Amino acid sequence: MSKPQPHKARKRFGQNFLHDHGVIRKIVACIGPKKGQRIVEIGPGKGALTEGIISVTERMDVVELDRDLIPILRVNLFRYPDLTVHEADAMKFDFTSLSTEEQAIRVVGNLPYNISTPLIFHLLSQARAIEDMHFMLQKEVVDRLAARPGDSLYGRLSVMAQYYCAVESLFIVGPESFDPAPKVDSAIVRMTPYKTPPHPVNDIKKLEDIVRIGFQQRRKTLRNNYKGVLDNDDFAAVNIDPTLRPERLDVEDFVRITNYVLNKEG
Ligand code: SAM
Repeated sequence: MSKPQPHKARKRFGQNFLHDHGVIRKIVACIGPKKGQRIVEIGPGKGALTEGIISVTERMDVVELDRDLIPILRVNLFRYPDLTVHEADAMKFDFTSLSTEEQAIRVVGNLPYNISTPLIFHLLSQARAIEDMHFMLQKEVVDRLAARPGDSLYGRLSVMAQYYCAVESLFIVGPESFDPAPKVDSAIVRMTPYKTPPHPVNDIKKLEDIVRIGFQQRRKTLRNNYKGVLDNDDFAAVNIDPTLRPERLDVEDFVRITNYVLNKEG
């Protein structure tokens, strides 16, 4: 194998490479990989996190968009013949294709921050194939994912993530652990999809619509945001006070509204 060229971090691919071995060990300990598990890493980069995992599981799938990183990754991980590299865009990747009836996948990654929210939505839509997810994200995104009703960062991302998953914020990582250093703090989050959501909706697209409409103007009341969708009788039927702001509703409230609207539409 010829020696790969040195790689300059690319901003457009959200490249901030982890170089802090203490942090890498701590993330791997949180993931707790076991031999035989099917772990899929998004954006392995040069393999900083990959090696800590594949040295235990012995096999791994990674999805990397930057083709110039792949020869570097292969050189760094040459000891592991069962590393499968998918040169692909994780935003379009079918993660369900790597799971089986018997074995759900575990997904990990120090995600490219520029696409982390749409990428999480893409993964949530495939949650049935996923046992759990551990991600490094901008701390603010982790705070949004884990926010509870009434928190200032509680919004659409919190509701949709918590519809599908139990969400735990694990620990904060400072900019100095990366090269180049990002401008903001990062954090590790664990998201564990429920086998069946505790409050299921009959149509997930409808829940997405209802949550989006509800948070359209977060300083306004529910009555305002749901004008043309819910009238006073409807609010009474779902037992929700229309003078509240959307950030007061929990996942179950949004599910109740959604199933009510679906029922009404027949
Ligand atoms: N895991 C490495 C580490 O911790 O040092 C790299 C993390 S870096 C923050 C993000 C990685 O995701 C980069 O390797 C980047 O090329 C890759 N990436 C960016 N966009 C991607 C996409 N759409 N699909 C797959 N990988 C992507």
